[in-house]
Amino acid sequence: MTIVLVGNWKMNGLEASLDEARQIAAEAGDASRRGVSLTICPPATLLARLSEAVAGTGLSTGGQDCHARVSGPHTGDVSAEMLKDAGAAYVIVGHSERRADHGETSAIVKAKAEAGLRAGLTPIICVGETRAEREAGKAEAVVLAQVEGSIPDGFASGQFILAYEPVWAIGTGLVASPQDVAIMHGAIHNFLVGRFGPIGATIPILYGGSVNAQNAAELLKTAHVGGALVGGASLTADGFLKILKVIA
Ligand code: PEP
Repeated sequence: MTIVLVGNWKMNGLEASLDEARQIAAEAGDASRRGVSLTICPPATLLARLSEAVAGTGLSTGGQDCHARVSGPHTGDVSAEMLKDAGAAYVIVGHSERRADHGETSAIVKAKAEAGLRAGLTPIICVGETRAEREAGKAEAVVLAQVEGSIPDGFASGQFILAYEPVWAIGTGLVASPQDVAIMHGAIHNFLVGRFGPIGATIPILYGGSVNAQNAAELLKTAHVGGALVGGASLTADGFLKILKVIA
């Protein structure tokens, strides 16, 4: 299966950052030949310009969130159709920063994932436990409940991606151990196969949480890890391409 490498720029990036994207795009064709798909999810303000700047290179783009509705009185929100119109192929939904900062429940995340599908985008649905939940021995139960509540009801091959991102590992420099990642990805994999049958095994499960060039190779070798969702290390072409170099 293709390895999926996605950069989440979060609330970072001005026009000057387009150069970083162009440098990443220059490697996208070669990456694809080596079995790695590259995607950058810039802030909404840059999405159209960045998509235009990298068009035809093989580097895909995505939004970081979407509203569940197509259009309407939702000041400040962006619909999945608008992301598609701006050139996106993907949309991240349910990132822990949105679950925490905007009170997004799994039901809301599911509606957003369905909006992404409706618009012809591939949703990247994020799940992950907090430090307190892990310490209480509840990590697997919390994550599987998020998966169950956040994914669309039906599934056809290639429709969506999951990303396991332990909240305590995001932006902290702390990384889940390959053993813990294997256990959690195995549990998610089993859930998806139980829910969708053998086709559920084709849903990529990305790991996210302080991924960088030092830890990526080991994480990507772990069972049922189909790629990585990268925050901080994706902000420069150098950081992102160093990860590409060690995984393929
Ligand atoms: C993220 O934003 O999804 C993320 C995993 O961030 P970082 O790589 O910086 O931990």
